[in-house]
Amino acid sequence: MIVLKFGGTSVGSVENIKKVAAIVSSSKEDKIVVLSAMSGVTNTLQKISNLLSNSDIIEAKKEMSALNLKYSEVINDLFKKDETVLKAGDLLRLCDDLLTSLLTIEYSTKIEKIILAQGEIVSTNLFQLYLKETGESSELISAMDFMMIDKNNEPDGDYIQENLTKVLSNFTSIKTFITQGFICKNRNNEIDNLKRGGSDYTASIIGAAVGASQIQIWTDISGMHNNDPRFVDRTFSINEVSFDEAAELAYFGAKILHPQSIIPAKEKNIPVLLKNTFDPDAKGTLIHNDASIEKIRAIAAKDNITAIKIKSYRMLMAYGFLKKVFEVFEDNQTAIDMITTSEIAVSLTIDDTSQLDKIIQELEGFGSIEVDSDLSIICIAGNIAQNTKGVTAAIFNCLKDIPIRMISYGGSNYNLSFLVKSSDKIAVLNLLNEGLFTIKSKKNKSVLI
Ligand code: ASP
Ligand code: MG
Repeated sequence: MIVLKFGGTSVGSVENIKKVAAIVSSSKEDKIVVLSAMSGVTNTLQKISNLLSNSDIIEAKKEMSALNLKYSEVINDLFKKDETVLKAGDLLRLCDDLLTSLLTIEYSTKIEKIILAQGEIVSTNLFQLYLKETGESSELISAMDFMMIDKNNEPDGDYIQENLTKVLSNFTSIKTFITQGFICKNRNNEIDNLKRGGSDYTASIIGAAVGASQIQIWTDISGMHNNDPRFVDRTFSINEVSFDEAAELAYFGAKILHPQSIIPAKEKNIPVLLKNTFDPDAKGTLIHNDASIEKIRAIAAKDNITAIKIKSYRMLMAYGFLKKVFEVFEDNQTAIDMITTSEIAVSLTIDDTSQLDKIIQELEGFGSIEVDSDLSIICIAGNIAQNTKGVTAAIFNCLKDIPIRMISYGGSNYNLSFLVKSSDKIAVLNLLNEGLFTIKSKKNKSVLI
């Protein structure tokens, strides 16, 4: 069995839904198809929910009508048979009635979650109706019947495996199942979700639960690139990457995949193939444990980084200092991305500055504080620490003329990152591209092999 997940853009219009259906029917394996909401819909639902939380019923109703109109147009264009149009109309009415009924109920996060779930519920129902109309046999299974999060909001693997297996066993002759990404139930049996962008996670969890032979994530780009094509001209797509490298890259801005989403696949050693709905023949990128070893695989950057330096003579040969510093960030629920230390100072970076003032105030008790903003982390992923000879020299040789604020190396075998001014980012990405890859010879490989 394989799992295919299609994102919001892939199911974002009638034309695209048809492309997805063609991809689904062309693969002959048994499969579970995981769908996101149509692009923009979850944002609209979130807006409706926010309006309700402010008791702005009039604006909420306006948003609901606009959404309903959008769906009605899709239904009219997508379906040919009157019978299907009627069925889809019924579905739409159900969704609209539900949202309308929530207008008068006291707002809570439970209501928010019910509202957010409607995007995936509608997209999967429409897709299932379309497959039926085109004569493809398939079964829509509700994520509510098997996707469960535990009290820590983490997927409950055992429950999911047991219940998904049970659901699937009811349909022994069916080869294509469709289900919702993102949504789930929680321990109190209420509708919940895996947080925004969670459909990839759903696909990975389902893949792990059924022991899939492959998980395919279909988006609107042809896999990962060796560098950011928005800022660098001659990039190339990478055919394969290890789970560790993919996680480093995803975190540092290669937004194609949420890093958490591949954990279940990695744990069960299930290859994840990144594919492009709009160019299905493009090879894409395979994330797996047997990826060939490359010293330099790819480069990614993350903007809006703030660096904080805490300098204190009390740190000299003392223990427990870092713990106290970290506690300040923990208490303020702010994640630290990168960290470097000297004997009398520690520098670290954050990307969420919502608590910055409080953090600085609390850190001032430890020593002198310097804050720099508008910085970017550049991440180089590959098998860097395994065979270090020459790699770091090659990297920094490219950067002779660039001031570097922090360097992090040796944290993992798969990542070297450093911090530069955001105004230098594009230059850095281009210099590294020129210096580290043999693009001119079209070998599309690291020069350091
Ligand atoms: N529809 C949800 C969102 O927009 C989940 C997803 O697309 O992955 O966040
Ligand atoms: Mg998405």
